[in-house]
Amino acid sequence: MTKNVVIIGGGTAGCMIANLLARGLKTEINQRTVQITVVSDQEIHIYQPGFLYIPFHLKQPEELIRPMDQVINTHVHVILDRATQIDTHKQNVHLEKGESLPYDYLILATGSHPKVEEIPGLQEGGHMFYTMESALRLRDAMDHFHGGKVVVAVGLPHKCPIAPLEFTMMLEDWARQQGFRKQTEITYAYPLAGPYGTASVAEWAEKEFNNRNIHIETFFMIDHVNPEENVIVSVDGRKLSYDLLVVIPPHQGANVVRESKLGDKEAWLPTHRHHLRLDGQENIFVIGDATNLPISKAGSTAHFEAEILSHNLINLLHGKKGEKPYNGKVFCFIETGLNQATYISFDYENPPKPVPPSKWVHFAKSGYNEMHWVNVKGIL
Ligand SMILES: Cc1cc2nc3c(=O)[nH]c(=O)nc-3n(C[C@H](O)[C@H](O)[C@H](O)COP(=O)(O)OP(=O)(O)OC[C@H]3O[C@@H](n4cnc5c(N)ncnc54)[C@H](O)[C@@H]3O)c2cc1C
Repeated sequence: MTKNVVIIGGGTAGCMIANLLARGLKTEINQRTVQITVVSDQEIHIYQPGFLYIPFHLKQPEELIRPMDQVINTHVHVILDRATQIDTHKQNVHLEKGESLPYDYLILATGSHPKVEEIPGLQEGGHMFYTMESALRLRDAMDHFHGGKVVVAVGLPHKCPIAPLEFTMMLEDWARQQGFRKQTEITYAYPLAGPYGTASVAEWAEKEFNNRNIHIETFFMIDHVNPEENVIVSVDGRKLSYDLLVVIPPHQGANVVRESKLGDKEAWLPTHRHHLRLDGQENIFVIGDATNLPISKAGSTAHFEAEILSHNLINLLHGKKGEKPYNGKVFCFIETGLNQATYISFDYENPPKPVPPSKWVHFAKSGYNEMHWVNVKGIL
């Protein structure tokens, strides 16, 4: 009997675990005792961290995209379709085009996306950089910006918690390089007491922002954008006027999670913090942004989780006992301008501590961005 491992999602988490499993189970796949299937609703794999560079003309869209067959191991069966319903009783995944896929093990790697439509006026009055289209639109707006009021407003939770800080410091540097920093006022509006959710990073970011004369507007919970008056309004009625508005809306989990009633009200999947099982399900696992784990929704999180889960599943399929626990490991580079960066490394027990920024770390981040195409193959 063939054991079917079905993975939903062809992003960082889905591709990485598919490739790691295919390498570890090559013999079983060749003997047809195991089949690995990835269901992806996109024909391409997108390197989302590259969106950060698009508004500054530092990356082009084609550098961030590869066809799925160039990033997924040839031993993996890829289905380009959308999973519409997961039936945990019958162990089946229903696909939009009508197919029904049975699974023995299911891995949910369905990611997260911004709730753009829940901020009235945002699409007309503001910008984002969390999708390819929005990053390109922001690039056009920045091409026509020559100084004025910039507001970067953040809603929680969202993927890559660091990216809005990075964008703001890059923008400040960019305005200086363009020669209109003195005519530019930058405000960072955040829903908490500081500019970040973790105390050590918030303290560090506050100092960096103060040094760069970036104003922090705390406890700013976004209510709506008024495009006629060029203001963004908080739930408590505060108004910030802008000439250029960049918003990172709160995120939610995938629609299939909601449609299958597997997640909470924001469609985050309740996941065991060490073994990455979906609560109450012995043979369903969750990795990447889709989990409800109290850690950053980041590509590096997906990477470390994929390493642990693939090891455990390969063991299981080899009939061995024992599981390695995921300890919440995350590693993130942080751009602090156009040519300097720092990094943080942390886990469930150890909070992050940013080191002083340097151009060497910026080069390391640039190299890491290029390495994604090797990294995602599970080779490193
Ligand atoms: C601007 C920006 C900067 C970032 N910077 C960094 C960084 O510096 N470092 C870092 O570590 N991380 C960074 N990230 C975060 C990182 O990109 C994500 O955390 C990572 O992509 C998560 O991987 P994932 O596979 O869980 O989700 P995704 O990569 O989003 O993949 C999920 C996939 O599942 C597909 N899918 C969803 N539902 C279905 C369905 N029903 N059927 C089939 N397919 C489905 C989606 O279309 C998508 O292709 C950044 C993200 C952004 C937007």
